[in-house]
Amino acid sequence: MSYALQTRNLIKKFGGFVATGDVSLNVTEGARHALIGPNGAGKTTLINLLTGFLTPTAGAVFLNGEEVTGMAQHVRVKHGLVRTFQINQLFADMTVLESVTMAVCEQRGLGARWWRPVGAYAEAADQAAQLLASLRLLDVAFERTGSLAYGRQRLIEIALALAAKPRVLLLDEPAAGVPTSESQELFETIAQLPREVTILLIEHDMDLVFRFAERISVLVNGTLLVEDTPDAIARHPRVKEVYLGEAVGG
Ligand code: ADP
Ligand code: MG
Repeated sequence: MSYALQTRNLIKKFGGFVATGDVSLNVTEGARHALIGPNGAGKTTLINLLTGFLTPTAGAVFLNGEEVTGMAQHVRVKHGLVRTFQINQLFADMTVLESVTMAVCEQRGLGARWWRPVGAYAEAADQAAQLLASLRLLDVAFERTGSLAYGRQRLIEIALALAAKPRVLLLDEPAAGVPTSESQELFETIAQLPREVTILLIEHDMDLVFRFAERISVLVNGTLLVEDTPDAIARHPRVKEVYLGEAVGG
């Protein structure tokens, strides 16, 4: 079994508070893997440790078997570990195709320079159009990014992240702020992305999680309670207990 992403005995303390307690996470290559857990369980902290936004108190992070623990965020991105960011005003005012083309240019080192060669720009636009096709966004290529429905804005954020050619894509609650009428399609689109991209996501809507994930890790009080298939997780007594009173299946 080869792993796209692993942590070994990862610990993060904020003062005396243990937000991440000895987490050894294994995400296999090509996985559709979900990280779940109650509010305050340490999910976002773990993602921040993976991206390098936070420095762990102890432990290690591995990307495709290579240790990246000491690496800066942008270096990890170059190594293929990418998370989404919210669309900013710049992108909101551009068309969808322009936004994604700009991200592709960035990845190719073309930057946003006005003197960039026309041919290079056309190639970048081609790649952007392919990305839009894979996310079922071609029909809105010429619309203003900021004018789209929330579900499709989240997909554009994913397109911007995919422009960086990730091997591992990290998504922290991609359906946050998206109406339920759009969230299912959003998750289906994420699930059908090419398998070259390993996906680890956080989601609290259990319907979405169980439809999307082939593997689920449950975080409770900063530690991993269990990591298993959705079926096994659904039957796990402690998981049920932890979620009692929370919106299971809703
Ligand atoms: P989740 O994403 O699972 O809801 P978080 O990772 O955001 O949980 O937070 C886990 C715990 O760590 C929470 O109790 C939170 O208050 C605490 N925490 C997160 N970030 C910080 C920080 N920068 N400083 C102090 N405590 C933090
Ligand atoms: Mg969170």
